[in-house]
Amino acid sequence: MNSPQRVMIVIGARPQFIKAAALHRALKNASGWEATWVHTGQHHDEALSTQFFHELELPEPQIQLSPRSDSRELRLGDMMHGIREAIQEVRPDWLLVFGDTDSTLAGAWAATAEEIPLVHVEAGLRSHRWSMPEEVNRVLTDRLSSLLVCPTDAAVAHLEREGISHTASTAPHPTQPWVLRTGDVMHDNALHYGAAWPESKRGQGRLLLTMHRPSNVDDPACLQAWLGAIGAWLEQVGHEATFPVHPRTARVLDAHQPAWREALREQHIFCTSPMGYVALLEAVCDAPLVLTDSGGVQKEAYSLGTRCLVLRDTTEWVEQVERGHSVLVSEPGELSRLADKMLGMGRFDTDDLYGNGHAAGDILRCMNEA
Ligand code: UDP
Repeated sequence: MNSPQRVMIVIGARPQFIKAAALHRALKNASGWEATWVHTGQHHDEALSTQFFHELELPEPQIQLSPRSDSRELRLGDMMHGIREAIQEVRPDWLLVFGDTDSTLAGAWAATAEEIPLVHVEAGLRSHRWSMPEEVNRVLTDRLSSLLVCPTDAAVAHLEREGISHTASTAPHPTQPWVLRTGDVMHDNALHYGAAWPESKRGQGRLLLTMHRPSNVDDPACLQAWLGAIGAWLEQVGHEATFPVHPRTARVLDAHQPAWREALREQHIFCTSPMGYVALLEAVCDAPLVLTDSGGVQKEAYSLGTRCLVLRDTTEWVEQVERGHSVLVSEPGELSRLADKMLGMGRFDTDDLYGNGHAAGDILRCMNEA
């Protein structure tokens, strides 16, 4: 019998716990794999971490890091050091990272230092905004990866433009990488949890709002301008929105606006704590329209057939915009016109843009072939 392939999976932030759930299901259905889970500790509280482990039945990480949180660079350094030590202990065949957070970059750096082939899930995405930490993380991670797993054709094209294209080498290496197009693991999850929900309920509830990108929320005036525009439009169209408030956004509101929850309720915006994953998916499904600056929530809107206002001037998920299912809103002054238009268009039938719900299994197959 062949010995199992050993993969070390690095996770650390909310979107990664969700992406990891699809991979965990695929690993349970596949044979010949031994997984070591490393939690970097980037997100470590109940709202952004613990609840997802319970809800998504993720395994208890074998290795739990506790990086310092005094500054981004100290945290990054601690995560790099901790993951490198984990690799030295386990000597996996692969190290796998998801997305574009500091945990992603820390894993990529540690794998490179220890000469372990790196798999990047969500390779090739670009916002073309070098000022976004996520953009720097994903470009650097792609450059260090041996196996680049792209969820869209646009992602494959971005890599090609940067001189990273598929080679037929037997052993993938950062200088001779494999670039593969699979579906998207978040779409796997949305179909897994959401496919059976009744059609009659969809689009019948409150709108859903999420905002946490530093460019939108760190400046209190900017955040107020967005919330003011959203509240005024909700008043005008007679709708209400649910707003699960990210801790980063709550910190800014706490510091600058006493009783902000009550003030927002006056503007038809109903604040909640960060939701669990299934509750969030249901809220996306029930919403006649989603307003968000989250990458994951944009995709979930697509997977569940809900139109989406992207509260940014750029997106990594360009195909949704090209097809008219999402629209970019680059500043609050544009909101009411675009929101009217998208609300009027109603729900749509989703398709296989992000695959057929089996992306995670395809990723394991690619790793087996490499
Ligand atoms: N999410 C959640 N509860 C919430 C808000 C978001 O479970 O209250 C989930 C949602 O599924 C989303 C994921 O968290 O896809 C991504 O997180 P986030 O928006 O923090 O990161 P991004 O996708 O923008 O990197």
